[in-house]
Amino acid sequence: MTTERRPKWRIDDVIARTDLAHLLDELAQPAAHNSRGRRWHCPLPSHDDQHPSVTMHTDHRGHERWRCWSGDDTHRGDAIDLVAATQRLPHVEAVDWLARRAGMIPDQPLPPIRRKSRPSTPRFVPLSDVVVEYATACERILWTNTGRPVREWLHGRGFDDDLIRANHIGADPGRSMFRRAKGLPHGASIGAVFPALDPDGRIRYLQTRYLDPGNGPKYDNPASSLGTNPRVAWTRSTAPVDIPVLVVCEGIPDALTAAGAGHRSVAVLGSQAPDQSVATRIAAQAEDHGLNVMAIIDNDDAGRSWGGRLQTLLADHDIALEIVEPPETGLDLNAWANRDAQWARCLGGSRPPVTTDAVEPHVAAARLADLDVP
Ligand SMILES: [Zn+2]
Repeated sequence: MTTERRPKWRIDDVIARTDLAHLLDELAQPAAHNSRGRRWHCPLPSHDDQHPSVTMHTDHRGHERWRCWSGDDTHRGDAIDLVAATQRLPHVEAVDWLARRAGMIPDQPLPPIRRKSRPSTPRFVPLSDVVVEYATACERILWTNTGRPVREWLHGRGFDDDLIRANHIGADPGRSMFRRAKGLPHGASIGAVFPALDPDGRIRYLQTRYLDPGNGPKYDNPASSLGTNPRVAWTRSTAPVDIPVLVVCEGIPDALTAAGAGHRSVAVLGSQAPDQSVATRIAAQAEDHGLNVMAIIDNDDAGRSWGGRLQTLLADHDIALEIVEPPETGLDLNAWANRDAQWARCLGGSRPPVTTDAVEPHVAAARLADLDVP
C-alpha cells in the first residue's frame, strides 16, 4: 500500500487553466444572452434567484471574478470561491477540484493554458445574405404601386425621394403579399424598412417599422441567428453642408432627419444604453474626419439618461459630447424638424467645448432657446 501524496497546486496555475464563464455554465444556471453581456442565476443553494443576478468581470490584476447583485455581499469571488460554495468544499479542496477539472495530474507536466472566452462580448454573427436580399426586394417594392403607402408615410415624416434612395429605404408589404425566410421581420402588417448602413454605405442590418403596429411592436429586427445587431447605423446625407459635426440620434428616423438636412449622422439602435463598442465606433469616425459630436436626444427622461451615458463613454475617448434637446417635452428630432424647419441652427452656431467636462442637457437646451430669438 502506498501513501498518496496530496497534490499541492499553485493557485495561479489552477486559475490560469480555469475559464470562469465555462465554470459558471457548469455550476450556475445560465440566462439568455443580451447585449450587455452574460448573466447567470445565483449558484448559491441558499439563494432562490428568480432573476439572473450573477455577472462576471476581470479585475485590474486580470483575475476573473463573479458577483451576485442580489444584495448579499458574500455571493461573490473567484473560481475557487465558486467551487467552495457550490460543492461545499474547504478552499484547499476546491483548488484540487479545479486542478482535476483542468486535467492537472501530479508529477506530470502542466497542461497548456487555453485562451479564455470573452463572456462580455456575445458571439458575433455575420449578416446573412437573406437579410440583404430582403432589404433589396423591399427597396424595389417601395417604388411600385404597392409601396405607395410607405412612400407617403416617409414623405409625411419629411424624407424626400433623394434621401430615401440614398439610404436604400424599402417597403415591406406584409407577409400575406411577400413570403419571407424565417428570422426576417415577421411582417404582420405593412412597414417601412430602414437599413442600417456602415460608414461606407453598405447594408449591415435593418429594422422594419410597422406603419400601424396596433398592439404589436413598432420595430422588428432580424433574428440574431441572421446577424448581430451592429448597434450603430450610419446614414448617407444628401446635399451635404460643410459643418464639422456628427449628429448622434436615438433611432434611424431621427438620424435620417439630420442626414436630410445635409448633416453627417449616426443612429444608435436598441432601447438599452449605449455601450463601449458604440462609443468606440462613433469616436473613430469623429477622429478620422475631425468632427465634433452632438447628440440630439428625445426630450424626456429616457433621452437624457441615454445622452448622459453616451457622454460618459465618449469622454473616455477625449470627446466632449454636446447634448441638445428639442425645445418641447416629448419631442424627438423628427417631430421637431417637421415643426420647425430651422432646427439645424443648433448645429451651425455652437461648438462643443474643448474640455471633456460634462455638458448638462438643460444648458444645451437653454443655448438652443437663445438661438430661437429672431
Ligand atoms: Zn446570490
